[in-house]
Amino acid sequence: MDVAVYTKVMEKFLMRMTRITEVSSVKLQSALEDICDFLRIGKIKVFSYMNSKSEENGQGTGITYYRKGQSAKEAAFCGRHGSGKGSALVFMYYQKLGETPWSAEELSKLELLDNVLYTFDAKLRLSKFAEKSMYFDGELQVPNMSYFHKSVNNIIQENRFTDYAVCFFNLKRFSVINQLWGRENGTKIMIKFVLRLKAMFLDRGNVCRVGGDNFIAYFEKKHLDNVVSYLSGTEIEVDDSRNESVQVRACAGIFEGDDNTDNVESVIDKAHLALQSAKRRISDNIVFFSSQLQHMHEHASWVESVFKEAIEKEEFQVYYQPKVQLNDYKIAGAEALCRWFYEGKFVRPDEFIPILEQSNAICTLDFYMLEQVCKNIRSWIDKDLNVVRVSVNFSRRHLGDEKLLDKILSIVDKYSVPHKYIEIELTETTTDVAFHDLKLIVNGLHEHGIHTSVDDFGVGYSSLNLIRQVAWDVIKIDKSFLPDVSDKTSSQYLMFSHLLSMFRELGLKCIVEGVETIEQVKMLKDNKCILAQGYFFDKPLELCEFETRLSN
Ligand code: C2E
Ligand code: CA
Ligand code: CA
Repeated sequence: MDVAVYTKVMEKFLMRMTRITEVSSVKLQSALEDICDFLRIGKIKVFSYMNSKSEENGQGTGITYYRKGQSAKEAAFCGRHGSGKGSALVFMYYQKLGETPWSAEELSKLELLDNVLYTFDAKLRLSKFAEKSMYFDGELQVPNMSYFHKSVNNIIQENRFTDYAVCFFNLKRFSVINQLWGRENGTKIMIKFVLRLKAMFLDRGNVCRVGGDNFIAYFEKKHLDNVVSYLSGTEIEVDDSRNESVQVRACAGIFEGDDNTDNVESVIDKAHLALQSAKRRISDNIVFFSSQLQHMHEHASWVESVFKEAIEKEEFQVYYQPKVQLNDYKIAGAEALCRWFYEGKFVRPDEFIPILEQSNAICTLDFYMLEQVCKNIRSWIDKDLNVVRVSVNFSRRHLGDEKLLDKILSIVDKYSVPHKYIEIELTETTTDVAFHDLKLIVNGLHEHGIHTSVDDFGVGYSSLNLIRQVAWDVIKIDKSFLPDVSDKTSSQYLMFSHLLSMFRELGLKCIVEGVETIEQVKMLKDNKCILAQGYFFDKPLELCEFETRLSN
């Protein structure tokens, strides 16, 4: 045979083999048939076997060589031996007894083929290994984010994404599980939780690890109800030998596929956005993405991006809402409330305060407000107006700040404002750590003659312990606690009335917020309430209006 032709054909064959990605593919079969034709070996057949009864044990891929003119029965077989893991790659030729031995030329051709197949197999194994390390999480042995990208991208490209949903989730308080059961068991619990979820989707979906205790799953929409109920709380056995289980729950954001989805990144962003919103909730921690959520997110990003400049430009103004004595309607104090005029346009507090509360930006605003209030009080004193005590809202985000007391004092003292004119409004807290900090700051302020009040009492989980254990000056009862005045026998009315008398007997000053009608005023007087604040008396007033009110 012409060596040049031979080399060329073999090169071509090798090229073909490098493009093949699967042992059992049709492409491999046809490449082998062509080369066998050329080498005149006869026919060749590729097959997979598992626990073959023949001389071979284990599983792998086999190849049968037929000599020219030979029948299947007489064919030689060669294959990969071993039992799955760690199998060695060995090709063997079986010579049937009584058969004419393969000639030296036949054997050299087979050897050549064998070498090519060996290389081919090694390449496949290497690429499988590379794929595994690229698409799988090394610790949990579950797919990773790259796998998610690849799979969901395929679904989108094949226009099947409308049938799918994606869920980005975070296991709740998993560090506690790790602490309680040890890290090793923690990992086992995590794997079980993930695998059981994945089993729901059959082959059409998967759960991929993003990192730590964060995962992202894709699956057909028909499983949504089951997924939501599974993630809301599922018992997982800690260890098969022990009869103990632990409840695993997740915070989740879900995005349901639609016709407009054209890339994986936006899918991840939307599910993640829903997850962030879920994390902020106290309960019901599974949130579905919606355009409204997207809008809120864009608005929040806008607030965050312009806030610093808005502070520098002094776009935030202090409005003063009078606190009124019910016996003579005289002003006994005022609450400083923040008003934002962004480039002259009014932005409502509920459109920016909750967003600033998500970060420490709210602390910047609170100090800014305190400083403006101090400046104003200074000028009232200098103008000889009848100065009243002003309360400033301080977010509970300040509580971890060890320097909070010093910072408040330094602002107040910078304007030489007598401490008695300042009150700090704080809301209740639910955690022990925050409670400890709260006590410290209230006591510290108290020692320096600055008043403190519990804001929004009656909203959420009001605790009488909190009232008893902290040296508050004032309790501010929230408007939502105000009962319907027409029914004096309602439990709401009775609670309100007894609460007021309890505070009175304990010697605690209280003020009722959100008073809007004359009936409410009358009811408060009947219950010996002394102070009130609300639209019935005044709305929050602009500085000059409030000054006029002070001078009257
Ligand atoms: P808040 O501290 O409970 O303030 C009372 C809110 O009730 C104010 O809303 C006030 O305008 C409103 N209000 C007063 N009287 C009535 C009434 O008779 N009826 C009704 N329906 N509402 C009444 P505003 O000014 O919109 O503030 C909302 C919340 O924003 C405040 O609730 C407070 O939590 C927060 N906030 C306002 N300014 C600041 C600030 O400077 N710092 C911090 N951290 N929070 C602030
Ligand atoms: Ca307040
Ligand atoms: Ca309040």
